[in-house]
Amino acid sequence: MNPNGVDYSVIVPMYNEEEVIEHTYKRLKAVMDTAGRPYELIFVNDGSKDRSAELIRSFGDNDPNVRLIDFSRNFGHQIAISAGMDYAQGDAIVVIDADLQDPPEVILQMIAKWKEGYEVVYGRRLKRKGETVFKKVTALAFYRLLKSMTNVDIPLDTGDFRLIDRKVCDVLRSLKEKNRFVRGLISWIGFRQTSVEYVREERFAGETKYPLKKMISFALDGITSFSYKPLKIASYLGFTLSIGSFLYLLIVIFQRLFTETTVTGWTTIVALNLLFNGIILILLGVIGEYIGRIYDESKNRPLYIVREARGFLGEEGEHEQ
Ligand code: UDP
Ligand code: MG
Repeated sequence: MNPNGVDYSVIVPMYNEEEVIEHTYKRLKAVMDTAGRPYELIFVNDGSKDRSAELIRSFGDNDPNVRLIDFSRNFGHQIAISAGMDYAQGDAIVVIDADLQDPPEVILQMIAKWKEGYEVVYGRRLKRKGETVFKKVTALAFYRLLKSMTNVDIPLDTGDFRLIDRKVCDVLRSLKEKNRFVRGLISWIGFRQTSVEYVREERFAGETKYPLKKMISFALDGITSFSYKPLKIASYLGFTLSIGSFLYLLIVIFQRLFTETTVTGWTTIVALNLLFNGIILILLGVIGEYIGRIYDESKNRPLYIVREARGFLGEEGEHEQ
């Protein structure tokens, strides 16, 4: 047992999960009880507007292994995970979704791999059940796009369901970036990594807390945190277009000097104008995505604000964010 009295920490980010959280708690408890070592279940309430936090408080009244980190508002899934890691005291730390899409029983397989000496054990989704075709297609495309754009080897089709060793958790905590794409950061950190395969279940109850808007900003965080390629597109396009335009210019000069061609091509000019303005605006937007993120980093605000941290062993409020 480690000096904190806890060997395993399980982090559960939750946003409006009142319909499912009791089942999640019971199943997690059942699984972790069989793991045979002291553990803690850290529920991070990411500004839920429903009774999620109250439910956790009531579980905590009867179960000393339950902890709650209650955010002052919704900060987002990736930040909730990061907060859980700041508070986790175990030697092995597991992150799992609250909606039972990731089966808690897989944690035992992850622990077995960890005992073999792996420092990161990620869950690899063999299948996704009960998700919309749109979600499946966008997820498939996203992970492949990300792989093609980055030099970091982010494994395909993995979410945040994974076990990390204390060492990895400490390194992760030392990375202070605000736009956090946790699964990418873990790949970037390295260490001995392996996977266990599982079938992603349907959401137990409730609906997805990742509407299109959150999905897009999540995808942009992933890409911009690990790749400059979108910025490079501007230079490549610029060069290609300049060469093209220069060749066209030669043709126009030639026509003007040596032929009798009359001035036509109003449509061409309008079309080209619209096209280039469009391209320029898109590229400005791309640059804006990066500048916005630089701005976020430079403000140096805390990653999250905690209203209440409950159930933790030892002194409270000693955590550095
Ligand atoms: N979540 C969160 N904050 C948010 C959105 C989601 O903590 O702003 C949690 C949510 O409660 C769940 C996990 O992140 O435990 C994954 O969300 P969800 O299951 O809705 O995403 P999906 O599985 O549909 O991608
Ligand atoms: Mg889900």
